[in-house]
Amino acid sequence: MQLYNTLSAKEREKLIEEAGKDRLTISFYKYAHIGNPHILRNHLFLAWNDMDVLGRIYVAYEGVNAQLSVPAENFQDFKNHLDSVTFLENVRLNIAVEQDNKSFLKLKVKVRKKIVADGLDDKSFDVTDKGIHVGAEKFNELIEDPDTVLVDMRNHYESEIGHFKNAVTPDVDTFRDSLDIIESDLTAHKEDKKLVMYCTGGIRCEKASAYYKHKGFKNVYQLEGGIIEYTRQVNAEGLENKFLGKNFVFDHRRGERISNDIISNCHQCGKPCDTHVNCANEACHLLFIQCEECAKAMDDCCSTECQEVHALPFEEQKRLRKGKTVSNKIFKKGRSEVLKYKK
Ligand SMILES: [Zn+2]
Ligand SMILES: [Zn+2]
Repeated sequence: MQLYNTLSAKEREKLIEEAGKDRLTISFYKYAHIGNPHILRNHLFLAWNDMDVLGRIYVAYEGVNAQLSVPAENFQDFKNHLDSVTFLENVRLNIAVEQDNKSFLKLKVKVRKKIVADGLDDKSFDVTDKGIHVGAEKFNELIEDPDTVLVDMRNHYESEIGHFKNAVTPDVDTFRDSLDIIESDLTAHKEDKKLVMYCTGGIRCEKASAYYKHKGFKNVYQLEGGIIEYTRQVNAEGLENKFLGKNFVFDHRRGERISNDIISNCHQCGKPCDTHVNCANEACHLLFIQCEECAKAMDDCCSTECQEVHALPFEEQKRLRKGKTVSNKIFKKGRSEVLKYKK
């Protein structure tokens, strides 16, 4: 699925035409100071419901994060409506033509505490006071600068299969953990180094950039639109690609190949591999990297224990699971002692 960003009116027209009666999938985020998220939530729901918008939208005091689909024929109405909401005027949209049309079945607009969970409770920190946004070309320049510290603001299982050349990739499970680690590692360089950050689509490093400014860092930069927009610009403008491997994505694909480098290893045999899978044992579902041979040998499981459970009749498996909380989400990100090559 090709992603398109910041389309010109002409490109947009073409996309809608191609989509025909299809739906466009759109994602965007915006940090802002929302006085009353509940009122905004109702406002968005009423307007978008009329346009047959489907999706998952989070509204918080700190802003809006939306993933949705719109019938192509209603796109202009939708865009006009966005522009009528002061802080969403000209917000950068990621737009794609949806292939299966099944990503969203309902319109859910939810009020949340935060749009990106950060575990922070610091009222003096202004999330809209962000770092300097840079595009792919400037970013490529910046990351070659010896005074730059390039930080990957994603979690370990994301940066493991792909990251920018020379990036620091904190070994963390949560956004909150990486904020602390980076601050303590760079505390002596708040003024002399350029802190350059990136993440998948920009939403996390935008918050991080505001956080580090608040913590006294003087030169804070952010890759605008994240790896997704970087890749689009590199392809559109014929720039050098400095991203190695795959971009981890939070859907069934799990990773989008950006370069042919394979920078990670099968967690079971250690050979080069960057395919994420989930353990086939329904009671486990661990997300890990597994090569085809190991998948065959292990019946798609992460361990011999899981393999044994997975081999049991379904009813027996269900009985074993009874009373236990089962994660059936596709991103169980726990770590495992069993996997020899899992970091
Ligand atoms: Zn293997
Ligand atoms: Zn397992």
